[in-house]
Amino acid sequence: MIIMTKILMLSVRPDEQAAIKAWQDRHPGVEVTTAAWELRASTVDQTAGFDGLVIQQRYNIEAEVYPKLKALGFKQISARTAGFDVLDLNLAKQNNLVVTNVPAYSPRSVAELALAHTLRLTRNLELFDDRASRQDFRWAGLQAKEIHSLTIGIIGAGRIGGTAARLFHALGAKVIANDLVENPELKDVLTYLPFEEVLKQADVVSLHVDLNETTHNLIDEHALSLMKPTAFLVNECRGPVVDTDALINALENKQLAGAALDTLTGEENFFNFNLEGQALPSQQLVKLRAMPNVVITPHVGFYTNIAVQNMVDISLDSALAVLEGQKPTTQVN
Ligand code: NAD
Repeated sequence: MIIMTKILMLSVRPDEQAAIKAWQDRHPGVEVTTAAWELRASTVDQTAGFDGLVIQQRYNIEAEVYPKLKALGFKQISARTAGFDVLDLNLAKQNNLVVTNVPAYSPRSVAELALAHTLRLTRNLELFDDRASRQDFRWAGLQAKEIHSLTIGIIGAGRIGGTAARLFHALGAKVIANDLVENPELKDVLTYLPFEEVLKQADVVSLHVDLNETTHNLIDEHALSLMKPTAFLVNECRGPVVDTDALINALENKQLAGAALDTLTGEENFFNFNLEGQALPSQQLVKLRAMPNVVITPHVGFYTNIAVQNMVDISLDSALAVLEGQKPTTQVN
């Protein structure tokens, strides 16, 4: 009798199925079952009969789920995301559940969106689209700036910020950066400067820090007041890194030329929902959407062919490693 390892993968979207099938084909001894529902107290009983668990979800997992998973024989929970804040690492540990994540599924995916957002702003594409939507096809007042004539300021030159710095450098831009830790490998593409100096000198400030106690509201009223009135802000990291009300004020008062936002505080209430014809649940979003110099994308930095494949592969590899008694490099607790 062949004993199959059974892994249950939750919150699976249709666009992940091809990557899951490719992994499954490479692992004939494992049976991957997919489902669209999230791991919650109300659904945990449906995980019975499986050996491994892979999740990717919006809502925090309730405390009673962990002992139930232990009682059902689970040894791990693998998140196929970089962030794992929906999980309580201590409760997982107390219940002998190894938690793994996908620390770097594709820094290029987010860095390329930072580049796309930057070009959208510096070429005034949002403003041309706005005019065109009113059948106004004039170009006056919207002369663009070429990227190699600009200074790009990277805040947080880690995996994604460092990759973005390399892309901007390759296009001939001057790249300056601020980080708590300086990476010698990046010194051929960027110059490290104090935080306030980056804000003062940059034509585009691109945010790539992780959300922690030092980065919450890092871009506040004071920080925005240091930026040039011709400068743009790009936020691809986490909504709470920017004080949204201060950003709205700065844009309304023309202290800033525009912004591109792939993340926004409160986004769990509106991003990846179809709210067509409904009142928006955020007045900040209403205000930002009304501004023609603001680009908003619904947290899609990660949403590329390569990143989705890596999230599937690395999370399933991690789950299988635990089930086979190994210690995965992606273990976080
Ligand atoms: P990373 O840990 O490699 O880089 C973060 C960098 O920020 C580090 O170098 C760190 O030293 C620096 N940093 C932290 N606090 C700082 C501060 N106060 N001042 C200056 N620098 C500071 O992380 P990463 O893989 O590059 O990811 C960065 C962030 O991007 C993630 O934490 C996540 O929030 C976000 N992200 C967004 C998407 C998306 O779809 N838009 C996808 C993946 C990740």
